Amino acid sequence: MNAEIISVGTELLMGQIVNTNSAYLANQLAELHISVYFQQTVGDNQKRLLEALTLARSRSDIIILTGGLGPTTDDLTKQTVALFLQEELVENQQALDRIIHYHKQAHRHMAPNNRLQALSFTKGETLQNSVGLATGAIICQEDTHYVLLPGPPSELMNMFQKGVVPYLKNVSQSNLVFSSRFLRFFGIGESQLVTDLKEFIDTQENPTIAPYAGSYEVVLRLTANGESEAECIERLDQLEDKIQAISGSYFYGYGRDNSLAKVATESLLASGQTIAVAESLTAGLFQATLGDQAGISASFLGGMVTYSTESKVEQLGVSQELVEEFGVVSQEVALEMAEKVRQKFTSDIGMGFTGVAGPSMQEDKPVGTVFVAIASASESHCLALHLPHGRTGNRELAVQYGLDLLRR
Ligand code: ATP
Ligand code: MG
Repeated sequence: MNAEIISVGTELLMGQIVNTNSAYLANQLAELHISVYFQQTVGDNQKRLLEALTLARSRSDIIILTGGLGPTTDDLTKQTVALFLQEELVENQQALDRIIHYHKQAHRHMAPNNRLQALSFTKGETLQNSVGLATGAIICQEDTHYVLLPGPPSELMNMFQKGVVPYLKNVSQSNLVFSSRFLRFFGIGESQLVTDLKEFIDTQENPTIAPYAGSYEVVLRLTANGESEAECIERLDQLEDKIQAISGSYFYGYGRDNSLAKVATESLLASGQTIAVAESLTAGLFQATLGDQAGISASFLGGMVTYSTESKVEQLGVSQELVEEFGVVSQEVALEMAEKVRQKFTSDIGMGFTGVAGPSMQEDKPVGTVFVAIASASESHCLALHLPHGRTGNRELAVQYGLDLLRR
């Protein structure tokens, strides 16, 4: 079974609203293991919507329409689908009662066109709307399933979960169980990871491997099917072992919604250690990222933004000789920043960030030269990086490298 999403609305075409419904639906369909091969966006125009429907019917088993179920004259999705399928629309009594009740309770006059929101096909299913007023509908004709959903996202999501998920599970029925696993990698680009794992990607069947680039990271979604959850897990474990053997040094965690910040914080909190941070190039961005994480107060003591050379020397206590010998953008200064802030805050761990964010070079060091250091009482370590982005990207990526250093 494959699906196509048709988003209806002139505001979408004009860029006045962002099409979050199609992203939501595509995501949900992937969860149901229904492939979305096409999406269309069309304005509130009957002729063009008929064209979109004709095209969708020629290539898709399930057609999901969003928007245009309201009471105004530009809302014509139901009427157009009815015309397209040569099916009749009637008022659904339950929906109509709800609309009447809503207006009574709100002491509002009910306009005659509000009745349009209760229309549903004589055949198929009516999808009641428990958030708004417009009813949705599902109708099947010649093995093509048409699903009509309202535009407002909260109404769409509610209706999709309540009425559409059970319907789609039923029509796409198979006895197979599906299970997905997300593997997250940092420090390697998508193309390199895909190249490294080429032998598995080229021969993938079950599990399938879907790589995608996130924000400064790469995610692999592995999906297995089998007769039981246990069988799926065994297949996923086997493939993951092979992937870890090749790319494990870049792997940082599991999960669809995970992040390096979350993983680094969890590992810091689990270690029971405290941290203090001195930042030059990132000017507080690393500390703000830590601050975003719930529970971080148990570990994060504080830190300093020492942006100028004077502040590094006078406030933080970095030695003037070191600055003169190596420059502020150096491994030596990053390590000293980490150690000095650790001492100042009497924390277990200290971190230091220095570098050239851009746009112009500094101390003859090119844009993207970045040093991220970590120090504890027993050891210290510094990353020497050459980051490829502009000012914003280099600062953000430096933070990510800092998190990666922290989690290890
Ligand atoms: P209404 O009863 O509110 O008129 P409707 O089903 O007719 O609902 P539309 O008129 O197409 O839907 O859209 C109503 C509102 O829903 C839009 O102004 C917009 O805020 C939101 N909306 C519609 N389509 C989308 C979409 N694809 N993604 C995100 N939001 C949307
Ligand atoms: Mg509308």
